[in-house]
Amino acid sequence: MEEKKKKQVRGIRISTVNMIMIFISCALYVLLITATVRVSDRYKDVHSSMDDYIAFEENEALLTDGSAYLTEQVRLYTVTLEPQYMEAYFTEANVTKRRETALEELKTSHEGNKAYEYLAEALGHSNDLMNDEIYAMRLISEAQGYPEDRLPEEVQAVPLNDGDQNMSQEEMIRKAREIVFGTSYQEVKTRISDSVNSSVESIHEMTHQQMLGDAEELESTMAIQRRLISILFVETIATFLLIIMLIIKPLRVYVNCIKEEKMMEITGSYEFKYLALTYNDIFEIKNANEAMLRYRAEHDPLTGIVNRGGFEQLKNMFRVKDVALGLLIVDVDKFKLVNDGYGHEVGDQVLKKVAAFLKDGFRATDYPARIGGDEFAVILTSMSEEMQGAVERKIAEMNDRLMHPNDGLPQVSLSVGGAFSENGFTDDLYQKADAALYVVKENGRCGCRFYEEGMKTS
Ligand code: GH3
Ligand code: MG
Repeated sequence: MEEKKKKQVRGIRISTVNMIMIFISCALYVLLITATVRVSDRYKDVHSSMDDYIAFEENEALLTDGSAYLTEQVRLYTVTLEPQYMEAYFTEANVTKRRETALEELKTSHEGNKAYEYLAEALGHSNDLMNDEIYAMRLISEAQGYPEDRLPEEVQAVPLNDGDQNMSQEEMIRKAREIVFGTSYQEVKTRISDSVNSSVESIHEMTHQQMLGDAEELESTMAIQRRLISILFVETIATFLLIIMLIIKPLRVYVNCIKEEKMMEITGSYEFKYLALTYNDIFEIKNANEAMLRYRAEHDPLTGIVNRGGFEQLKNMFRVKDVALGLLIVDVDKFKLVNDGYGHEVGDQVLKKVAAFLKDGFRATDYPARIGGDEFAVILTSMSEEMQGAVERKIAEMNDRLMHPNDGLPQVSLSVGGAFSENGFTDDLYQKADAALYVVKENGRCGCRFYEEGMKTS
């Protein structure tokens, strides 16, 4: 049975669909998370490129400012001849050190790249320039006659050239000014600014390329992200549709079937189909059991015809019907003697025989019933008084056959009382038929009488 059912059921299993959907969802979410992490990484890269660029520009400016400051101080010294400018120069060169700090700041993140190399080159030119600047300051200090020991170490360390030692004060000052304002000095200044400009261009190009690459990757990863979201959307809709198709729809169908007390439609997933088949089997068994119980409740097990309970139901059924019908009450005469003389089993056979006679002797639309031990009733549908003679003849024929048995059973006879009604099974119908039966019993039995006015009802 189990095996047979398993073979009959074909359909998509919810458990399988569920596993597939879980797997697809997990895979899609993993891919989506990976893509999102990549987007976030690229975004951080773009951000850090921007930060690097800004930091580079700030340090470039620092180096340029440092270099310009040195030039400014040395020039002020040569023009104003005031030593404070020399002091400011060396404070910048030895203490503030903006140019060196700028390069130091960029060393870790940029060393080795072109922009950094150009900046280092600019610092190199600036340092080259310092030799001339210090010499110019030496000339001024000499011209002003500042004591040697009060001069900065760097200035002390630079001796005047032979030719310059014999110069007058004015000549020394003029030469110093020529050095820091002269063409060769200006050329080196130009080289510094060229190197810085090259560095700016280089960092600009580098950042541009870097950001271009990041932006392309960002765009392609976001496109993948969009596609994954679309697939997830489709997958979600597909899941909902499958839930409707495999679960909700069959559930609705099944609930209706249960409400309407009918067999289930075989629909939905494998599990629901299996459930429906099982339910249908149980439903059939239940119906069969109910029918059997109903039959048992309404039928006499010995004779197979309707019993007292069934007869009561028939009475009620015909009570509501506004039809002409007849009722016969049939009692076996002296049945006790049969039991006493031939035994209970033979008595049973006689009862079965009488029931069979009543069943076969009347129409299929009539209802014979066993309403007591040896007492039967027959509801004759569509019956009127005119048909009384025909019924009496039928009873007489039955009695004749029962009195002349050819089946080895003892002779018996029937007493039958009958009554008619034009208005279905009325309350007094039974009493009337019983009164007629009483008359038959009183008058020698084995016969049939119909109720007449004056017969005594109980
Ligand atoms: P009467 O002519 O006055 O009807 O006499 P009777 O002997 O038939 O009397 P009554 O109808 O009262 O007796 C019915 C008997 O039927 C009594 C009982 O022992 C017997 N009987 C009742 N049910 C069964 C049954 O199922 N099988 C058998 N064999 N006998 C039954
Ligand atoms: Mg009897």
